[in-house]
Amino acid sequence: MAESLEEAKQEVRQLRAQLDQWAKAYYEQDAPVVEDHVYDEKYARLLELEAAYPELKSADSITQRVGGEVSSDLPKVEHPVPMLSMGDVFSKEELAEFDQRVQKTIGHPVAYNVELKIDGLSLSLEYEEGRLKRASTRGNGQVGEDVTKNVKYIKDVPQKLPEAITTEVRGECYMGKEAFAKLNQERDEAGESIFANPRNAAAGSLRQLDPKVTKKRQLSTFIYTWINPPAGIDSQHQAIEEMAKLGFHTNENGRRLENLAAVYDYIDEFTKKRDGLPYGIDGIVLKVDDLALQADLGNTVKVPRWEIAYKFPPEEEETVVREIEWTVGRTGVVTPTAVMDPVQLAGTTVARASLHNPDLLAKLDVRLGDTVKLHKAGDIIPEISEVVLSKRPEDSAAYEVPTKCPSCGEDLVHLDEEVALRCINPSCPAQVEEGITHFASRQAMNIAGLGPKIVKQLIDKDLVHNVADLYYLTADDLSQLDHFKEKSINNLLAAINQSRKNSVELVLFGLGIDNVGGKAAQLIARKFKNMSKIASASVQELTAIDTIGMTIAESLTAYFQQEEAKKLLARLEEAGVNMDYLGEDGEAADNFFKGKTVVLTGKLAHYSRAEFTKKLQALGAKVTGSVSKKTDCLVYGEDAGSKLAKAEALDIPRLTEAEAISKIEEKDTEK
Ligand code: NAD
Repeated sequence: MAESLEEAKQEVRQLRAQLDQWAKAYYEQDAPVVEDHVYDEKYARLLELEAAYPELKSADSITQRVGGEVSSDLPKVEHPVPMLSMGDVFSKEELAEFDQRVQKTIGHPVAYNVELKIDGLSLSLEYEEGRLKRASTRGNGQVGEDVTKNVKYIKDVPQKLPEAITTEVRGECYMGKEAFAKLNQERDEAGESIFANPRNAAAGSLRQLDPKVTKKRQLSTFIYTWINPPAGIDSQHQAIEEMAKLGFHTNENGRRLENLAAVYDYIDEFTKKRDGLPYGIDGIVLKVDDLALQADLGNTVKVPRWEIAYKFPPEEEETVVREIEWTVGRTGVVTPTAVMDPVQLAGTTVARASLHNPDLLAKLDVRLGDTVKLHKAGDIIPEISEVVLSKRPEDSAAYEVPTKCPSCGEDLVHLDEEVALRCINPSCPAQVEEGITHFASRQAMNIAGLGPKIVKQLIDKDLVHNVADLYYLTADDLSQLDHFKEKSINNLLAAINQSRKNSVELVLFGLGIDNVGGKAAQLIARKFKNMSKIASASVQELTAIDTIGMTIAESLTAYFQQEEAKKLLARLEEAGVNMDYLGEDGEAADNFFKGKTVVLTGKLAHYSRAEFTKKLQALGAKVTGSVSKKTDCLVYGEDAGSKLAKAEALDIPRLTEAEAISKIEEKDTEK
């Protein structure tokens, strides 16, 4: 526990800013940046501090609100009955504490309906006179997103009920394991980012402006909640049975259990059965079965007091490391991967796990022949947690990190004391392959159909050596590729041709210059307007752009000084690739503050008021002096007084200085 109130305050501030940032990536972009257990640990720590120092509690805290914000362009829906989150526990002891709390409030033991916790996202379905009128996501619990058009393509959601009733049901929208694996494989092959888990895949597939995308994605539902069920339905168990009779898809594994011993057996049973289920589950849910008792127990602002989730611990298996493979990435970083005896882990066979860099390899001290413990990060990505030293062979020797590039044989180096090991040979074949794949990717030049497999063939057949060569490919060249017939040849040539018209920031990002991410490329292109001005910009001119620091500026100038880079750009230009900025003038890139009216108050610790104002304005915010209904957000420092109170009274979103800084910094994290 933190030692003083001051220290606790500092830690709480950091935890909130961090958790807000992670939750945003998870709920709004459907792309988590950390594993769930990392998030859960920080969240538990925040709860602990808020309980120990009640004066630090705040309605703004993630512990007091549901999910993320409603950020997509989908229409918004206000939920007549809020869609809440759920408390969670990680051990049987904590489950027993929950049961004791319930018994204490009710005054006697209760029966629970125990259900599987499906790894998807909550969905509300509203019916009018028996017809599906509206479907929506949870959003922030009060306001969700309208996904009615998308839900039409989920086969198990009834469009019409057998009775002309007006009612609302809720449940989980999920993607089965097979569909999830297929989707990720397709995305991987197309050079697109893969979904971290079935929940994010389901959310990303449902929250689509174009329902046709949802149609392709094979989503399913399990319905488990009936809002205001008809008279005569008194229990959760019965509600599920009756909803099934109305044609809803319900899960057959729910069970009414009379005591905790039976609940523990249920947990053990489904811990074993979990891998064999055709859909992902991340725990079980315990719900007080009697609906009248549920009403007596009520809700907190965030979670019902009558239900709790028990989350499964991450699965772990032992296996033996046989080889360590080194692969070269786009920027020349050489990454070690452990190749192991195949094992079954959380439903799939695993034989490889990334060791990320030589430092981690050294820290874990993984050696050939070592037995290691393996788990799946986020239940999906295999990771070695430790070496089982008691099983280490007697003749084992420390692993020696290679000194030569596995692709081109040149010396490997550590640049500027960074942990990564690099090959700095610009014509290293492995790097060229990765570089071209990046150039063609959706985030860069978006050349549809030019995924890693095609790029590999183009290089192997000596048809391209750099990104400029793509624009000189002919139909004859492409006919040499496996299974390439007239239609695929024409499609690829058309996609390459189309990319000639892209705005210059995409070319700049596509070049794969170290440290220059998509957002940095955009800001630079907007300022300098064309490639020749960008290429001749000085470090000073570059760092004059807000949020462009020395690292990006130096990397960029060093790149453009290379003769190779000059030749490459000249060939791209000759091939008719657009080198001008086509975006809107002076407009800030998308960010949290863009278009918002912001008020600053209190003593700021990191910047002067003028500096902070300039930063916010550069992001497209309007900074005003007083709080009114028109204010979108208040940023407050130490000793904030009346403006903070007024913002609270008007329910205007409030950010601490640290939270605001972390939102500003979010801007250029992607690479
Ligand atoms: P939750 O997902 O843990 O639990 C609540 C949800 O469970 C409900 O909204 C419902 O959709 C679902 N559910 C599935 N089966 C159910 C059933 N049978 N009955 C009732 N509900 C059922 O809670 P949450 O608040 O949505 O999310 C918090 C969790 O999300 C955290 O535990 C964390 O692990 C994860 N998270 C991770 C990150 C990250 O960066 N990795 C960020 C934010 C949240």
